[in-house]
Parts: sequence; structure tokens; C-alpha cells
Amino acid sequence: MKLFDGLETIVKTDVPLAQYTWLNIGGPAKYFVQPRTVDELRLAVQRCRENDVRMYVLGGGANLLVDDAGVDGAVIRLRQGTFLDVAHSEAGVRAGAGADMGRLVLRCVRDGLSGLECLTGIPGTVGGCVKMNAGGVFGDIGSIVESVEVMNDMGEVFTRSREDLAFAYRSTNISSRFILGAEFRLGEDDPQRILKQVKQIWIYKKNTQPLGGHNAGCIFKNPRGLSAGALIDRAGLKGKRVGGAYVSDKHANFILVDEGARASDMLKLINLIRETVYKKSEVYLELEIEVW
Ligand SMILES: Cc1cc2nc3c(=O)[nH]c(=O)nc-3n(C[C@H](O)[C@H](O)[C@H](O)COP(=O)(O)OP(=O)(O)OC[C@H]3O[C@@H](n4cnc5c(N)ncnc54)[C@H](O)[C@@H]3O)c2cc1C
Repeated sequence: MKLFDGLETIVKTDVPLAQYTWLNIGGPAKYFVQPRTVDELRLAVQRCRENDVRMYVLGGGANLLVDDAGVDGAVIRLRQGTFLDVAHSEAGVRAGAGADMGRLVLRCVRDGLSGLECLTGIPGTVGGCVKMNAGGVFGDIGSIVESVEVMNDMGEVFTRSREDLAFAYRSTNISSRFILGAEFRLGEDDPQRILKQVKQIWIYKKNTQPLGGHNAGCIFKNPRGLSAGALIDRAGLKGKRVGGAYVSDKHANFILVDEGARASDMLKLINLIRETVYKKSEVYLELEIEVW
């Protein structure tokens, strides 16, 4: 592994990625890099840059479809060491990119810090949720981000404060490749009251989304003023199946996969949905999930 000489403890080769995604499908990463510190990350990034190795950043894999052929590049996963740190801050809480969002929400409830509960039931990491501006009817994460620490491909680290950041529907203006961590502006509140809100959101999710079974949340973005789920439902596609992938009966913007399903099943079903919805409603659905 000449390319990563000296970094053997944090780099593996040909690592199957399925186990790192919520869909549980997809082929291997040529290089799988798990740095524990910013310096290790910088070194790995430098080697990739010098050797023209394409880089991919993996969070919790809750919004990803990895192709059956896998990824010809370095998948960099920030879920060790300092990337997991969580601490109180002046604004509320500061968390490393790899911190688990579900656990962070519960920790804030316990500490009487309100704001992050709008992320209840949204799986992933702090880095992935900020990158995607994760959220929904209860609010988006972007509205409570105070600052974000990022690293670019040159290994330079910057802090970008709220004034520099713009969040839109499932997107941000963060252009640096790596989000290292974020600080959230939270208010103080009674833990019992925040917990009540968390429970209400869970009940809403349970009633409206398929729980259990492998999936990646909503597959398509909602077109402006429209619901992707309603368009798919109207096209008669609930329950539609290709191989091991099928459209949820409960929420048509969710695709569920059986054990042993292939990424190609998902991709064929996605194309079929797009074509059918376009024929029926003349709307072209844009993907919310990322395909590697
Ligand atoms: C059951 C279920 C329900 C869901 N419900 C919702 C919902 O209600 N609302 C919603 O918005 N989403 C929802 N999602 C999608 C998913 O939870 C979010 O998109 C979440 O933000 C993904 O975070 P992640 O850490 O898993 O990111 P990943 O899936 O690993 O990556 C997503 C993107 O973020 C990038 N990324 C990840 N970490 C970093 C980092 N540290 N630095 C830079 N880029 C990074 C990746 O490169 C990729 O482009 C749901 C998913 C599931 C499985």
C-alpha cells in the first residue's frame, strides 16, 4: 500500500461498503480511510491529492446508494477519535462531524437544550446532516447552525460562521470537501417539554413513514410546491417492485430493499419511477439520495 505508507492503521483496501449504508447494498471501496485526528485526515487527503485518487466522504450512509461495482477511490469516514467529540459551547453545543445525530438529540434533551429535536428520527451524523441540511416539517438543521469547521482538499481548516453560510432545501453553500464539526445555537428549556416534542415527532414519523426494513429515507426531492410521494402515488407506483427493491405502501417516496437486493434493482426502479411520473404529471423528479 505504497500510496498510504505510514497510514496503515487507518487505511484498508477493498472494504465492502454495504455494511456502512442504511440500504445495506453496494460494492467495495478501493481505499477505506478512517482518520482519528485532523492531522491524520490532512495526511490522507494529501496522499490522495498527490496520487489523483478521488475522495468520497462517508457519514452515517443514511442518504447513500453505493453502486454494485463499488467505488474506485478513497472513501473517508470521520467516525473515530476527535471527530466524535461533543461538548457544551457558548451558543449551545459543539459536535464533531462523526457524532451520531440521534444520540446528540437525546443528549441535548437530557441537558435541557432545545433546538435539535427537529432532527428526531433522522439518521446520520452531524457532518452528513449539515451537508444535506437535513430536516422536514419540524424544521431544518441549517436554522440552528452557529458555525461549521471545514477542511478543503489542500488540508486548510476554516471556521465558517452563520453569516457566511446559506442553507436551502437539502443543500448548503459549503464547498470545502470536509465538514469537521459544527456548533449549534440552542436554547434552554425543560427536558420534559423537549422530550414531549421528541415523542410527538416520533409518533408522526411512525404514522407516516415505513419503520424497519432497509431504506435511505426519501429518494426524490419534493419539486417546488409539490410532494414527490404524492406524485409517485398518483402514478400508481405504490408497491411497484424491481428485483429486491420496491416502493413503500406507506410512503411512496421511500424505496425498501430486501436482503440480497442489488444497487442495480434500486437504479432500475428509480428510472422507472421517474419515467412513469414524467408521463403522468410532466414533472422530472430529482434525486435526494446520492449515488456513488
Ligand atoms: C429512515 C430514514 C429516514 C430519513 N428521514 C429524513 C428526513 O426526515 N429528513 C432528511 O433531511 N433526511 C432524512 N433521511 C436522509 C438522511 O438521514 C439525511 O440525509 C442525513 O443527513 C444523512 O446523514 P449521513 O451522515 O448518513 O450522511 P451520508 O449518507 O453518509 O452522506 C450524505 C452526503 O453528505 C456528505 N457527507 C457526510 N458526512 C460529511 C462530512 N463530514 N463532510 C462533508 N460531507 C459529508 C456525503 O459525502 C454525502 O454527499 C432519512 C434517511 C433514512 C434512512
